[in-house]
Parts: sequence; structure tokens; C-alpha cells
Amino acid sequence: MGAPVILLADDSPTVRAIARVELEQAGYLVIEAADGAKALAAAIEQRPDVVLLDIEMPVMDGYEAVQALKSDARTADIPVVFLTGRVGADDLARALKLGGHDYLRKPPEAAELLARVNAALRVKILQDELRTRADDLDRMSRTDHLTGLNNRRHMEEHLRMLGSSAKRHGFPLAVLIVDVDHFKSVNDTLGHHGGDHVLVNISHRLQKALRTEDVVGRWGGEEFLVLLPHTGAQSAAILAERLRCAVASTPVVVDEISLTVTISIGGAAAEGYADDDLVRLADRELYAAKGAGRNRVRVIRSKGEELVS
Ligand code: GH3
Ligand code: MG
Ligand code: MG
Ligand code: MG
Repeated sequence: MGAPVILLADDSPTVRAIARVELEQAGYLVIEAADGAKALAAAIEQRPDVVLLDIEMPVMDGYEAVQALKSDARTADIPVVFLTGRVGADDLARALKLGGHDYLRKPPEAAELLARVNAALRVKILQDELRTRADDLDRMSRTDHLTGLNNRRHMEEHLRMLGSSAKRHGFPLAVLIVDVDHFKSVNDTLGHHGGDHVLVNISHRLQKALRTEDVVGRWGGEEFLVLLPHTGAQSAAILAERLRCAVASTPVVVDEISLTVTISIGGAAAEGYADDDLVRLADRELYAAKGAGRNRVRVIRSKGEELVS
């Protein structure tokens, strides 16, 4: 991490000059702004670690500036330390209530200035760590640990969102369930670990064969779910066939054993009308594809028309 950046917003060049010297001597990088509006623009553009904010300034005062900073997601986490000539308790209470982290009376004494900036900085660092950890947890809670694909919970979320969006805007939506054929015997041949390797390999092939707007995830043990927005039954069947070929055409090699693995795919598409249960319909098609011999694709239009390949 480079030197912490402090945004120093005060309309008095004298105040800025004195504080700048003290902050720079303590190893901080200082950027300056002469009014609230400029402070806001600088905060958005440069993302300082702490803002020192005067209250009485032209164009936009410190009260307005702190409100704007706190209501913008890009700057809301930056601690604001007020730098104020006002000494009334009401003024301070207001400044803190609007989102200020702390305050300093002007003219600030060097040791106090640095101590308060430091304290604000510690808060910022802790907050950033918490945010990163929360983001990591969030990502982990949506990701299948073996394949790195979306997990079932995340796929259910995608399905809900795409489903309601398809209904509202009347675009087609297709769902494919991909199931590995005779995966039990793949495990028997390669061992459970080898079976895992095959699942990862298949997940890569699926991802590679899909388009960027398609959503793929691990639905269960050796099952994958694919959501195809803006895709009718005909196109879904073509895409499913492409997925089937992507798996069946080249053997998977695990520990120098080369094994041809196949998948069966059941699909269902709603074309411009509501259908809440595409997954159930797709599952039924999958079952039929298995019954018809495996390594094949069956897609149904949710009004009942079968497309078989
Ligand atoms: P079918 O062609 O009818 O789909 O046969 P299948 O053997 O693939 O189907 P079945 O559902 O009977 O068996 C699925 C097997 O997948 C059983 C289970 O042990 C295995 N499996 C499930 N999850 C995992 C996993 O994460 N890793 C490995 N290696 N195997 C798994
Ligand atoms: Mg002022
Ligand atoms: Mg299965
Ligand atoms: Mg299977």
C-alpha cells in the first residue's frame, strides 16, 4: 500500500498550507480543495483515505459536502474529519449527525491533527478489510467449490431474476439440465478423485461452448443447469447439441487413462409467455433422453412441442 491520501478541503489557503506541511511530514499524501463542490469531485476521482472538511466554505459548505459524500456509494466509506472554526456544540452535533467521523477545532494543533487523522485512517483500513472479507464470503456462498461455477443457490437466484424479467419484457427463456451419463461407472473406473476431475473438465467445456449472456452452474452432483436468456426452443436445441458434442467428441484424460464421457440434456423453453416451471419440464425431457439411450438432447417448447435430436 502506498502513502495514505488525505483530502484537505478548506477555503483558507493559510489553513491548507499549515496542515499540508504537518501531514506531509508525517508521510501522508495531501490533495487540496478550496470548496465543498471541489472536495466532492476530488473525493470521487481520487478516493482519498480520509477527508478533512472545513464547514464554512463557498459554493458548497461542509454540511452539504458530507451529506453528498455519505450518500454516494463511491465515497460513503471514507471517514470525514471536520475542521472547524465553529465551536458551538450544536454545530458539532449536526456535523457528526450528518456522517462526520470526528472533528478538529481550528487552528489545529499538529499532534492532535495527526492523532485524529491516524485514528480515522485505522477505521478506514478496518472497514476496507471487512468489505473485502464480506465480498469474499459473498463470492464463496455463490460458487461451487469444485468447478468454480455458480452453485445451486446462485442458479436459483439467476432463474428467478431471468424468469421474471422474461415475463415482464416478453423475451424467450430456455433452461437446459445437463446430466453426465453413467457417471457411477466413471467413478468406478477413475476413482472419486478422477470423477471430480471429469466434472471440472466438463464444466470447462460447457463454459467454452456457451455464449457470454448464458448462465451455467452446478445443479447437483453430476448435473449442470444452463439458463439461456433470449433463446427459444429451436436455438436452445441447437446449443444443447453443441454442448453434447463438446463433451462427447474428445475423451477426457485422467492419470493417463483416456475415457470418452457423454452427457444427456433435457431442455424447456418459454417463448414470450409465462412459465414458472421450466426446470421441471426440462427434467422430464432429461429423463426421456436417458430412457431413449443417453448421449442425446431433448428440448420442449413449454406449450408442448417436442424437439428431439
Ligand atoms: P445416468 O446415466 O442414469 O445419469 O447414470 P449415473 O450413474 O450418472 O447416475 P446416478 O444418479 O445413479 O449416479 C450419479 C453418481 O454421481 C453417483 C454419485 O456418487 C456421483 N457423484 C455425485 N456427486 C459427485 C461428485 O462431486 N464427485 C464425484 N466424483 N462423483 C459424484
Ligand atoms: Mg472556511
Ligand atoms: Mg444425475
Ligand atoms: Mg448421471
